[in-house]
Amino acid sequence: MIQTVTKSQQREYVASEEEKLHPFLSDEGIEQILQTAKAPNENAFHDILQKSLAIQALSLPELASLMKIQDPEKWEEMFHTAAVIKKKVYDNRVVMFAPLYCSSYCINNCLYCGFRRDNHQLARKQLTQDEIRNETDVLAGNIGHKRLIMVFGEHPSSDIDYILESMKTVYSVRTNQGKGMIRRVNINAAPMTVEDLKRLNVGGIGTFQVFQETYHQATYRLMHPENTIKGFYNWRLFAMHRAMEAGIDDVGIGALFGLYDWHFELMGLLSHAHELECRFGIGPHTVSFPRMEYAAEAPISTQSPYQVSDADFKKIVILTRLAIPYTGMIITAREHPAMIKSLYPIVTQRDASTCIEIGGYQKQAAQNADAQQFELGDTRSLDAVIRELGESGYITSFCTAGYRCGRTGDKIMSLLKSGKESCFCKLNAVLTYREWLDDFASPETKRIGESVIQQEIGEIKREMPAQLVEKTMEYYNRIHQGERDLYI
Ligand code: SF4
Repeated sequence: MIQTVTKSQQREYVASEEEKLHPFLSDEGIEQILQTAKAPNENAFHDILQKSLAIQALSLPELASLMKIQDPEKWEEMFHTAAVIKKKVYDNRVVMFAPLYCSSYCINNCLYCGFRRDNHQLARKQLTQDEIRNETDVLAGNIGHKRLIMVFGEHPSSDIDYILESMKTVYSVRTNQGKGMIRRVNINAAPMTVEDLKRLNVGGIGTFQVFQETYHQATYRLMHPENTIKGFYNWRLFAMHRAMEAGIDDVGIGALFGLYDWHFELMGLLSHAHELECRFGIGPHTVSFPRMEYAAEAPISTQSPYQVSDADFKKIVILTRLAIPYTGMIITAREHPAMIKSLYPIVTQRDASTCIEIGGYQKQAAQNADAQQFELGDTRSLDAVIRELGESGYITSFCTAGYRCGRTGDKIMSLLKSGKESCFCKLNAVLTYREWLDDFASPETKRIGESVIQQEIGEIKREMPAQLVEKTMEYYNRIHQGERDLYI
């Protein structure tokens, strides 16, 4: 049965009293704050940084004032503060994931996307369950990934039943003599009804991700033709409200930078985070900040007047960390290796060995721009990326324990804000890193990884309670001897 939401359902939602009572975002409101903001004086500047360091979200005027700063030394100080915050909340880890694009069928016509309805050059494809199993085999069994983000276009063939079945298929795969399994499936899909979201929740979803693309309503109307489901701004804007209502308390928000002025989009993201915190007591678990890249048959992807420069992109990342200090921040293989590396001190998650062609992992496909949603900047293997992270002093984490131990929603939010989550994360990062080094690393990556892991174990022994150290070391040794999937 087709589960797609009808336009009349959306109109009903758009017109709801709920939204009229809580208009948390307006073009005029944000524009006015941006226009009247001034760079803070010395005292105000340091007060704002102190607030971020105390892991409190900034106000919209505070964020707007930081945007006005011109002094390069102050930007250096902001970068440094953002790095201190990341270390405090997330320690020196980078969580690894891979995207699994399941279908390129889409009924929408977003002007910046290679999957848009009007792209008649695209050879469309939807993975069968057997193909999903085979893709998972490669991702979990050959490469060693433990968490996926499954991506679905908006189409009757990618309805909730297909999404649920696909997620179940991924979770069912055990491969490479028990070394390969996906332990967390996040979903990036079109906004859904509360009923469908409840089914996703029961089905074992990790994070539910919906990006607003642009928070600027006038631009949103231009990019998403009115005669498409995606044309309804509010249906998308309130997607996470419905997720929370359905019991999914782990949500990821984002904007596609390059559609409109990045200052506005960042203010939109912060407004969205405030709204979720204020209404549900749970801010976004992750924020994504994809930068628009070339997409086939999508002229806006190269012609937008709002393309974001490298220098501004770095500002976006710094400001996001300062404005929503507790949140996970995802940088993806859209970006080039040097840019990603320069932002390891601030971001918390990245993908690697990424392939966004539908069914591409099996084919070990080279990039095929005509068959994917956009172009990638970093096509290096997971092994190469983990080696680079190790050389730079970062531990790669495949931890999925938070979600499986019930550390989600308000529980994880309070752990993140108090800096206590980094303790569990550090232990589980070490355990999952040990697994990956033993099962999948090349000799050179393993050599570098061993020194990272010894340093981490040294810190754990010095800083953590004896009981926790004992338990961690017991699990560590059991993993080294061949047991798998032990977590704290
Ligand atoms: Fe479809 Fe998403 Fe692409 Fe829009 S951005 S055309 S909804 S796949």
